Amino acid sequence: MGLPERSDEPSQQSDGEPPGRRLFLSRALGTTAGLVAVTAAGAITGGVTSAHAAPGSAMGPARQEGQRNWRFCNKCFGMFYYGYPTNGVCPAGGAHYMAGYDFDIPYNVGETPNAQANWRFCDRCFGMFFFGYPSGGWCPTGGSHSAAGFNFVLPHDVVETPNAQAYWRFCTKCFVLFFWGYPAKGRCPAGNEHNAAGFNFVIPHW
Ligand SMILES: [Zn+2]
Ligand SMILES: [Zn+2]
Ligand SMILES: [Zn+2]
Repeated sequence: MGLPERSDEPSQQSDGEPPGRRLFLSRALGTTAGLVAVTAAGAITGGVTSAHAAPGSAMGPARQEGQRNWRFCNKCFGMFYYGYPTNGVCPAGGAHYMAGYDFDIPYNVGETPNAQANWRFCDRCFGMFFFGYPSGGWCPTGGSHSAAGFNFVLPHDVVETPNAQAYWRFCTKCFVLFFWGYPAKGRCPAGNEHNAAGFNFVIPHW
C-alpha cells in the first residue's frame, strides 16, 4: 500500500517567498532538489553537486493526465481544490485562499517506486489528504476527512523541474498534503503547525 515512510530530513528552510522561488534558486545553482539549504536571508549555504543526487529517478515527474485547479493555500499551507465556487474550510479560519501555481495532479495511474497512490479530495474541507490508513485524519470541519473523486497518485523523490515543485509533504497529524518549504509549517487542524513525514512529493504544475 505504500504508507508514508519516516526519514531523516536535511535541514532546510526558505525566506518566505512564494512557492517556486526555491525552484529558481536550485536550478540556477545547478543543485538537486532536497539537498539545497537556503538561509532565512535567502542565501544558498548547503548546495551540493548533482553527484549527490537524492535517491530515486534522475528525471522529474513525467507529464500525465491529471486534474488541474489544485492550489496552495497561503493561510494553512495545505493543497486544496480550487475548482468550485467555494473554497472549502481552512484550519486557519474561513475558506482556503489560493496562491502560487496551478497544480496538475495525476490520478488513476499505477503506483510506482516514485509515485504514491491513495491521495484523495476531501469533500468537506476541499483538502488533499492521504487515505491509506484506517483513520481519515483530522478534518478542519470536525471528525475525519471524507474521500471523494479520483485516486490521485503523487510523484515523489524525483528532481524538481520548471514544471514540478518539491517540498510537498504528508502531515502526520491531519493527513493533508502541505508545503514544507517555508520556515513556518502552516496551520494544522489538529493543533499548531503541520508535521512532515515520509516522502518528498514533487507536484506537477503549469
Ligand atoms: Zn487553508
Ligand atoms: Zn477534510
Ligand atoms: Zn496537519
